[in-house]
Amino acid sequence: MVETRVLIGEQKVMEKVAELAGTLKEEYRDKHPLVIGILKGSFVFMADLIRMMGIPVEIEFVGLSSYGKGATESAGKVKVVQGLKTPVKGRHVLVIEDIVDTGLTIRFLLDNLKKKKPASLKLCALLDKPSRRKIDVPIDYLGFSIPNVFVVGYGIDWDERFRYLRDVCFVEV
Ligand code: 5GP
Ligand code: MG
Repeated sequence: MVETRVLIGEQKVMEKVAELAGTLKEEYRDKHPLVIGILKGSFVFMADLIRMMGIPVEIEFVGLSSYGKGATESAGKVKVVQGLKTPVKGRHVLVIEDIVDTGLTIRFLLDNLKKKKPASLKLCALLDKPSRRKIDVPIDYLGFSIPNVFVVGYGIDWDERFRYLRDVCFVEV
């Protein structure tokens, strides 16, 4: 039996998402941004965020994978599992990530996107584990800085489990 414990409760999460959305709404009001979610962990965060932003956006998803099934340690290698279908050139791009850990995944994606010449490129992450960083990545819009625990819930899984939890939780591994 794997036990989960609450790290950040639902109400705190929703307050923070509303705060981020308020900032993003002002930033992107007249820009019709292309909001790119990194599958799968960001999908709940992104769904709440764009509704609270309440302005027209276009959405896209990319599938990247750096964790093996069941593993809790980054393999250090990033694979594209699902590529982008929308042209990025000249667009205001906002990347949505669940967790920035070593930074390898997001650095890989941002470097790729930059080559496609977007009008602007920013990163919004729900969670940051600064103590785990291996490569520098600026997080333009951040929800919470957290310690080095393995997080689940609010869309984030452990081997496809626990995505449905409303709180951001952690598991002991
Ligand atoms: P990085 O490349 O920054 O090391 O890894 C980022 C990705 O690893 C995140 O997008 C997320 O999918 C996964 N990851 C990092 N920490 C956790 C965690 O605590 N829980 C889960 N479920 N995934 C994590
Ligand atoms: Mg991820």
